[in-house]
Amino acid sequence: MRFDIVTLFPDMFGAVCDHGVTARAYKQQLWSLGLWNPRDFTQDVHRTVDDRPYGGGPGMVMLVDPLEKAVAAAKAQRGTAADAPVILMSPTGRRFNQALAEELVAGEGAILICGRYEGVDQRFIDRCVTDEISMGDFVLSGGEIPALAIIDSVVRLLPGVLNDADSAKQDSFNVTLTGLLDSPHYTRPEVYEGQSVPAELLSGHHANIAVWRRQQSLMLTLKRRPDLIESARQQGLLSKSDERFLKQLRDEGLTAR
Ligand code: SAH
Repeated sequence: MRFDIVTLFPDMFGAVCDHGVTARAYKQQLWSLGLWNPRDFTQDVHRTVDDRPYGGGPGMVMLVDPLEKAVAAAKAQRGTAADAPVILMSPTGRRFNQALAEELVAGEGAILICGRYEGVDQRFIDRCVTDEISMGDFVLSGGEIPALAIIDSVVRLLPGVLNDADSAKQDSFNVTLTGLLDSPHYTRPEVYEGQSVPAELLSGHHANIAVWRRQQSLMLTLKRRPDLIESARQQGLLSKSDERFLKQLRDEGLTAR
């Protein structure tokens, strides 16, 4: 798995190479990173990467040429994997989610383009970009944080990256496995300021613990993300006992909030 990043701020990528499980995987060479600064692909003495927008208006727009040359350099270094997707971080793109992370982990990686200022010249998008991804309905000042989020979410899915292989399976949004939100977690002490860990988790009875976790997941998902209950149902991920429990919750008046 290789990620190439086109960014004016390459130092920001220490966030995934220097910390936590993504750093450990990086040192084990389970994934690699190429950083390409458009400023290194400029011709002028000022190393200009942006200019004023045609038609007027505030802010600056990133120039096509340095971006295109940076992508070409990344592709040249990728060699056989040069047909990897070229993904622009953009609030107008497809919303990122776990299903998309799982799509990416099945491939050879990607070239991620981080915009700055008002964005990039449309002709760069038309000529070079294969996909556009948004982190959500909010505007950031650059594509670096979205690119970091994508790398983190994809790398942790690579085989051998997480210590306990099961911990990724229980995570929220594991579309192929549960499609539901994760259940609550507790660790020591057993009682904190008078608040005890739920008795089911202390029982040592594995089947009961599994039922409790499943029901907590169902309850939380019904409350916060009823849309996920519906899609889990459509994917055939809800058992008869799940449906019985959901009906019981609805009869008790539990609805979305
Ligand atoms: N003028 C643009 C915002 C530009 S923000 C608009 O209103 O749509 C500058 C850069 O930050 C963008 O080019 C993009 O690369 C990145 N960015 C901002 N918000 C983002 C989001 N929600 N998801 C992905 N990238 C984002």
